[in-house]
This record gives sequence, C-alpha cells and structure tokens, in this order.
Amino acid sequence: MKQIRNLFPILKREINGKTLVYFDNAATTQKPQSVIDELVNYYSNENSNIHRGVHTLSQHATEKYEETRIKVKQFMNAQHSEEIIFTRGTTESINLVASSFGEKFLDENDEIIISALEHHSNIVPWQLICEKKKAKLKVIPINEKGEIIIDELPKLISKKTKIIAVAHISNALGTINPIKEIIEIAHKNNIPVLIDGAQAISHFPVDVQDLDCDFYCFSGHKMYAPMGIGILYGKKELLEKMPPYQGGGEMIENVSFEKTTYNHLPFKFEAGTPNVGDALALSTAIKFIESIGYDNIIKHETELMDYCTSEMEKLGFIKFIGTAEHKAGAISFLIDGVHPYDTGIILDKMGIAIRTGHHCAEPVMNFFKIPGTARASFAIYNTKEEIDTLIKGLIAVQKMFNS
Ligand code: PMP
Repeated sequence: MKQIRNLFPILKREINGKTLVYFDNAATTQKPQSVIDELVNYYSNENSNIHRGVHTLSQHATEKYEETRIKVKQFMNAQHSEEIIFTRGTTESINLVASSFGEKFLDENDEIIISALEHHSNIVPWQLICEKKKAKLKVIPINEKGEIIIDELPKLISKKTKIIAVAHISNALGTINPIKEIIEIAHKNNIPVLIDGAQAISHFPVDVQDLDCDFYCFSGHKMYAPMGIGILYGKKELLEKMPPYQGGGEMIENVSFEKTTYNHLPFKFEAGTPNVGDALALSTAIKFIESIGYDNIIKHETELMDYCTSEMEKLGFIKFIGTAEHKAGAISFLIDGVHPYDTGIILDKMGIAIRTGHHCAEPVMNFFKIPGTARASFAIYNTKEEIDTLIKGLIAVQKMFNS
C-alpha cells in the first residue's frame, strides 16, 4: 500500500494543516506520477497533430494515438478497434449516442427507457432528443434500498422502445445495477442498450463482449487518467448506421460544396483535432490499473467498503442512503440533524475530502425526499487508517451540531 500511495504525489499534500484524506474518488481520482509524466513527456518531446502529417513527429504521435485505441479495445475486450471512439468523457459519449442514434432511429411517439438511478448525464441528453423527435422517456423505478426494480422493466418495454440506457454503478448511492439481466431482457425484445460505466471502470473489469452491451461509456479522469478524455464503445454494425455527431476535419472522406462524404469508423465520430496527449496518458492509466490487477483492486476496495460501512454503523447516528445488496465505490449517508453541506465543510477543516449535495442525480434525492447526501468514495490508494480518520471526523461533526 505504501508503494502504491507513493505513486500519487498529491497524497502527500497537506490540507488545512492535515495530511489529505481523499474520499472524493467518484468525482475524480487522483493521478499516478506515470500518468503525469506521460503528459509532460508528450508536450515536451512528442507534441504534434496527428493523421495528416508526413513528418516524423506527426507519424510518431499518430502511431501512439492509434496504439492507445488498440490498448482500450483490449482493456474492454471489444471485437474491433474501430468500435472505440475517443471523446471528452462519459457526458460527451452519451450525448453522441443520444444525438446520432436518436437522429437515425427515433420517430414521433417512440420510447427510450432509463432508470431512476441515473446521473444527469444519462437523463438530459435523452430528454433533448425526445423533445426534438417528440419521443417519450420512461423510467425504471427503484426501491427503498436504492435498487432498480428489474421486474418493472418488461412492463415498460413496448414495440415503440428504441433504446435502454442505464448506469453500471450509481454515482449517488454506489448501487451495482443488474446490467447483464437488463441487457438480456432488452435483447429478447431487439432493443439496444447503452451502459454508463463512469463509476464502474476503475472498480472492476469490463468485458463488452461478455456483457453484450451495444454501447459502453466511461471517463478517463475517474480511472486515474487526466480530465478531458473518455471513451465510447459501440458495436460496429450500429455505429456504421449512425450519422456523424459533429462535422469538421478528420470525419470526412471528401468535401465539396455539392456533396461531402464521411470517413469510415472510428474517424466518422472524431471531428477535429483530438486530445492526443490525454489519450496517451489514458493508455498509461490503463497500464497502471493492469499493474495492480483488478483482483487486487476488488479485494482491497471491498475491504474498504465493508470496513467503512461497519465502522459507520457502530456510530449509531449515521443514516445510510442506499443500502443495496450489491454496492461498490461509494457510501452515501447523512448525520441525523446535520445538513450534509456542514458535514463536508467541517471534514474539510480536518483535511478530509468528501462530496456533498445531489451528486448530479436530483431524481434520486427527490425519491428519498432529501436535498442531498454526504458521500465517501474510494480508490485503490485509500486505507483503513484513513477511514479511521473519517470516523473521528464524523464523531466531531456530530458533537459540534448535536450536543
Ligand atoms: N455518469 C455517472 C454515473 C457519473 O458518475 C458521472 C460523473 N460524475 C458522469 C456520468 C459524467 O461523467 P463526466 O463528467 O466525466 O462526463
């Protein structure tokens, strides 16, 4: 653990005179030195625009960018590298699908199904295309534990259902959704499925062929890579039928004022100069994850989740929001009589970073009839000792407001 922590320079920082305890990993993870070095190296030694250059730098950058695509393909076990589209992150990946798939396949009165557990990024893009196409959004309900009520899904499906979009893991509650079951039900009805994997990819391996999902989206910055780079995986036969999302350089085959023809996959969906430096650093982040190994990540993070939950239970004044049987990555909670914002502010004074608020999942908060929660979320570098510090902090908050 000491070796792993040493790879992350920011973990040595002091916040308000205390060693940083970083429990806001669901918002973004910290970056290992290797990822930072990759960025510095790219801009110090390799920076060049790709694909169109004959000179050495351009060719070298193009090679590394396309090698990264292959790396991501292997990482997700996609069948073809052209099924991997570089985006700015999960939000852009979902917007791309909602806009392009919606443009092609959605007609008036058609239906899209999402769940009541979604991040705004997996709600609003669908609302936008529904508005444009006069289609309807249907929502799979959740129960009091914060779990999708899967039995309700078949009742929502109709001949008009064109796509189902759900999160792999809820960022607000940590619930792991039964996405394999959802995909099976959807496919029995010939409906494609998009998975928002923003919260899953750093916690366990994702095999898109095994899942048989049609689209899978994630953000680099939540898996130790920089901000501004993300991935859309899409099945080739679907992506080929979809129109371009944005127009510009790189996504074309030929341009004339009379008629423009589009480039083949994946370039059809990558208009303009791509984020090469961050893509290369994403490759380094994947290597970092592989060097630790998902088996070790799952073992360690499960221990952290179990330990934190049981230590919080012992306090007696914590109300858990989201008590699903299968959870990963995050614990959402409230202290009786204390606004989550105050909890966050007091903990920050002790150097402990948690997130408070609605976590971009207002419908989830409305379901539980609360304005927000406090959320502690974990990564590979967190320790039980840090959880002990959090528990001491929570005791202090409780004393301050409730004694
Ligand atoms: N979906 C989920 C489940 C998320 O947690 C997040 C980020 N909080 C997003 C989508 C959006 O990710 P990004 O802001 O990186 O595009």
